Amino acid sequence: MEICKHKKMCGGCQYMGTEYPKQLEIKKDYCIKLLEKASIKNKVVAPTNGVSNPYFYRNKIIVAFNNKYEYGLYEENSHKVIPYQRCLLHEEISDQIIHKIAMLFKKYRVSIYDEKRQRGLIRHVLIRRAVKTNQTMVVLVCNEEVFQGSKNFCNEIIKAFPTIKTVVLNVNKRKTSVVLGDKEKVLYGKGFIVDELCGINFKISAKSFYQINHDQCVEIYEKAIDLLELKGNEIVIDTYCGIGTIGMVASKKAKQVIGVELNKDAVFDAKNNAKMNNITNIQFYQEDATQFMQQMANKKQKVDVLIMDPPRAGSTKEFIDALKVLKPKKVVYISCDPSTQVRDLKYLHNIGYHFNTLYPYDMFPFTKHVETVCLLTKL
Ligand code: SAH
Repeated sequence: MEICKHKKMCGGCQYMGTEYPKQLEIKKDYCIKLLEKASIKNKVVAPTNGVSNPYFYRNKIIVAFNNKYEYGLYEENSHKVIPYQRCLLHEEISDQIIHKIAMLFKKYRVSIYDEKRQRGLIRHVLIRRAVKTNQTMVVLVCNEEVFQGSKNFCNEIIKAFPTIKTVVLNVNKRKTSVVLGDKEKVLYGKGFIVDELCGINFKISAKSFYQINHDQCVEIYEKAIDLLELKGNEIVIDTYCGIGTIGMVASKKAKQVIGVELNKDAVFDAKNNAKMNNITNIQFYQEDATQFMQQMANKKQKVDVLIMDPPRAGSTKEFIDALKVLKPKKVVYISCDPSTQVRDLKYLHNIGYHFNTLYPYDMFPFTKHVETVCLLTKL
């Protein structure tokens, strides 16, 4: 077993040092305890679906720099940079690119942002990898719109790493710990990379959500679609749809899919992705998922199947009240935080939707996080 040299200083890997099969067991037990605590009885928690290689899975990394041009993650609950050379969750090429970027910043004397004085240019660097197509995106998060010397910087970094297909300058002038700002300027390439997932190509831009662990994401989507047993005549709603990934996979087996997502960049990508893949039976709407559900309920629209994949905060009671009116026959709930999912499962239980089995998936080996999938049907 490889062990990280940085002794959990960054706060990222709670289970570094724990044997992998044990990690899977811990995650299953966690789900069992959550159900017990919520008094949800007589349910099965399946063994956690693990990965063949628990290392190097993160396709997105974000680092900060200190004024010595060292880079790393922030120490837990602080903004102190913990410098690292090699993170065992990153692909090696991502760390090599960051290393080169740090050397170029030093060479060109690019200033590093100082939070206290709110001065300096570079706040973060984000690397995103499309692992299936081997394309890389570099995002420089800056405190200003202008990066003097960006041409030379781009030329050098692209020459060193030809998989870099685009370099984006993201402007974030706000006093916030949110990494990305709203405004963007493409310094090189098209501003997006393309990855392949479940046989579909997806354009991914800097700001849209894309699952971190490609291979495990495929497993989760396949499970969700299998559980739904689509026949081809269903109307499916994909709520919290991101760039439309799962909905587009489902669209091949359904009559019509409607995707809803709050983030406007993700919806923009989703629409383009449908076009790029010649998928014509899917529409996307940029809206709050709860409000969208309420509007659908008011219009008494027909919905056969509902997919929900909310952020960690989970869904809302109002969303579930609207679901009650829409009466889909099947609901698949994918969650990145089972504690909020269990809360929502209780609401769903109260309106007559029941599940038998919760399927945990290890999307983030070595961390405490676990994803879960479950199918709910109306009795
Ligand atoms: N299903 C997608 C994304 C899941 S992540 C995938 O598998 O890739 C959760 C998504 O919910 C994010 O894209 C986030 O932008 C979106 N989101 C967060 N709050 C939302 C809300 N209130 N209404 C709609 N979408 C929301």
